[in-house]
Amino acid sequence: MPVDIEKLEKILKSEAANNYQNRIVMGGLEGFIGNWVNKSRFSNPSSMEARLIERVSERLIDYGSYTQAGRAQAIREVVEAIVQVRQSNAPNQEKAPIKQAAQKISQIVEKALPSIPPNPLQIPDKGSTTLEKKPPASVGNVDFNAPLTSVKGVGEGSARLMELLGVTTVGQALYYFPFRHEDFSSFRKISELIINQVESVLVQVVDKTVTRTRNGKEIVEVLVSDETGMLRTIFFNQKMVYQLKPGVRVVLSGRVERRENTICFKSPQFELADKQELLNTGRLVPVYSVTGNLKQPTIRRIIKNVVDQYAPKVPDHLPADIKSRQRLPDLSVSIQNYHYPADLEAREKARRRLAFDEFFLIQMGVLTKRREWQDERPAIAMRPDPGLLDSWYNSLPFALTDDQKKAILSILADLNKDKPMRRLVQGDVGSGKTVVAATALLATIANGYQGVMMAPTQILAEQHFKGLTALFSKFAESDAAKARGLTPRIALLSGSVKKKDKENTYVEIAEGSVDIVIGTTAIIQEGVTFNKLGLAITDEQHRFGVVQRSTLRDKTNATNPHVLTMTATPIPRSLSLTIYGDLDISVIKEKPPGRKDIKTKWVMPDERQRAYDFIRKQVNAGHQAFIICPLVEESENLEAKAAIDEHARLKREVFPEFELALLHGRMRPAEKDRIMLEFREKQHHILVATSVIEVGIDIPNATVILIEGADRFGLAQLHQFRGRVGRGDAQSTCLLLGSDDLSEAGTQRLRIIEQSNDGFFLAEQDLKMRGPGEFFGTRQSGVPDLRVAGLGDTDLLELAREEANALFQRDPNLLQYPLLLGKVAQLWNTEGDLS
Ligand code: ADP
Ligand code: MG
Repeated sequence: MPVDIEKLEKILKSEAANNYQNRIVMGGLEGFIGNWVNKSRFSNPSSMEARLIERVSERLIDYGSYTQAGRAQAIREVVEAIVQVRQSNAPNQEKAPIKQAAQKISQIVEKALPSIPPNPLQIPDKGSTTLEKKPPASVGNVDFNAPLTSVKGVGEGSARLMELLGVTTVGQALYYFPFRHEDFSSFRKISELIINQVESVLVQVVDKTVTRTRNGKEIVEVLVSDETGMLRTIFFNQKMVYQLKPGVRVVLSGRVERRENTICFKSPQFELADKQELLNTGRLVPVYSVTGNLKQPTIRRIIKNVVDQYAPKVPDHLPADIKSRQRLPDLSVSIQNYHYPADLEAREKARRRLAFDEFFLIQMGVLTKRREWQDERPAIAMRPDPGLLDSWYNSLPFALTDDQKKAILSILADLNKDKPMRRLVQGDVGSGKTVVAATALLATIANGYQGVMMAPTQILAEQHFKGLTALFSKFAESDAAKARGLTPRIALLSGSVKKKDKENTYVEIAEGSVDIVIGTTAIIQEGVTFNKLGLAITDEQHRFGVVQRSTLRDKTNATNPHVLTMTATPIPRSLSLTIYGDLDISVIKEKPPGRKDIKTKWVMPDERQRAYDFIRKQVNAGHQAFIICPLVEESENLEAKAAIDEHARLKREVFPEFELALLHGRMRPAEKDRIMLEFREKQHHILVATSVIEVGIDIPNATVILIEGADRFGLAQLHQFRGRVGRGDAQSTCLLLGSDDLSEAGTQRLRIIEQSNDGFFLAEQDLKMRGPGEFFGTRQSGVPDLRVAGLGDTDLLELAREEANALFQRDPNLLQYPLLLGKVAQLWNTEGDLS
């Protein structure tokens, strides 16, 4: 099921045509958007589409609470994102008409727009940055963009088959690497063959007999020999066997099997030995991923032709000194050897070189992006005030953990520079990120600048508002704060704030009488103008692509704010280095002392009643509980329906004496917020929810969470769910109910999560089980694909980063390395960019 961009576009167009009244969808555009986003996330989006989906979610989910101008601006941004997806989806030749169509759409939207003041938060795209330069179409006289048909031996038919794989040019074919090799390289004599081994023999055909089974299938038995003996070979229904005529010399590769009292080959791969070069037998044979009618021997032949003719001419973009330092073979040799290696060692060398390239190019792109961002405008250096910080630490209700201290020190050092900070703080739920953010805010306002903290949802924004207000008012009583006249004013901007108050706050922010602004990402990006913005923090920005195009700026200063991002999604270091490569990373691993680990128990289906009894006991003791409904893939509607039914059933049959609330994805955001707030205020005993349950919300009184169909969820998500409890002093429990038909992977996941409370460990396990592409269900990292490099290549990743950093220091514009510049640009253009 493809992402239905047309439908989205149609709705947005009518909304624009209706002057952004939010009347075209019953109940508001948000309902439609919520559905669309959820559905699209499950429809296997491309990386560009995934980013569109996140953009839509980010800009339109609070649509109803915007002003008309804000709505228009949000729609315009989403339409721009649609245009980008279209452009990236269009194959080269067809780009023009699609681009025109896309432009037409934006014109229609444009026309319908009332005149909108330019968004003060949006930095216009720079026309040409180093990365946007087009790569050289050809190098020397070799054109790697040439169509496949220009390769000798590749005809129209073959080209069409390759097109199904997305391979249309010579360059793409060179980089269409096999996903593994079959080792047919060990040649033996017939007398030396070992049963059950994969072996190859060079033999001569002695005899051939054809028989048919009763249902007409052809069985061909070919008798072959070498100087040491004879061997039977059996083929079933294989057309090419006609080539095996008596007297012909042939190489057979396959597994040796026992048949009656002798050995034989069953359906081995074979290749006539008098051809110049063996492709399918007697060597390391590449296995490509193929679709449709494309057979391995065909694609091998095609790619062999391309590799033979073009690989030797591939120029090497990697600086010579790096190659020799890291002992990397030439690119040209590596490409040849990664398709058709002479032996395993050659293959590994080639793989290492190509994997290094991937990491290296990503890192170069990341560095370039980062510099563009930092070069744009400087930041204000926030000088630390040791005395003040001491009183701040003393005013806190707890002592900081070592990890918190370390993160704070790094942040204060970043803030002290006139380059904008770009730091990511990763810390498991409950690890205490808020106080780290608060300290950064304090350093900022102590320097006379404003800070903003953005949360993805209203509830989280309100939670932060309360938390920070408490911390800062305690601090304001300290002598140091009084001496400096520091009584920070904190303002909340969220959908629940009345329009009138919101407008007042806008004015106060612009005047500078508010020091700290807390609100939802959507509202703050919509139209806040700051007086002197020094620091912007985003919380729980757990999706990828943290770096947004629209950056915050202030009214009076030509500076960039420092940016701090916080996430509770534990990402293994190897992965975060690549994905967040342009960010500095602080990790908070250590939990605050005294925290009780959440007890996790895998409950068998026949113990369901006991699980309910346990919940009943907890509720009777004054606590609250979550019950998470199973994941229903592909349909938000079905999932919501299942949750509605389950809620009704639990109420009727299991917990008639309790108040049960319901939360699912079909609800409007405001409704979801209301339910969560009611639950926090203990109006309900039990909350029955689908997987939409918000991240990060603090309900300290909830002590048990029951997850139905737990084996269907990924480890990272199970861990997030589990983090909903264990936020108070009481011992908390997580009960995992598996589905009736447990898969092996599901069983394994339940075992792992039952044993570990360590988010980072779980993420590593998740990654091992699922691979990086599927880590978050969909690929949405926005960074180029890793085709060759794998998870085991952490060492190589470090080396590539070091080399890239050093080269970047030396020649940031790659003036001496035009080939490399082209390569970086090409990769980051076609696969997406980080901004
Ligand atoms: P998260 O990293 O999930 O955002 P919070 O910042 O919300 O975590 O902190 C979770 C809880 O732990 C809060 O109640 C906070 O006051 C408390 N906390 C944070 N740091 C410490 C600490 N060093 N010692 C004791 N409690 C702490
Ligand atoms: Mg938090």
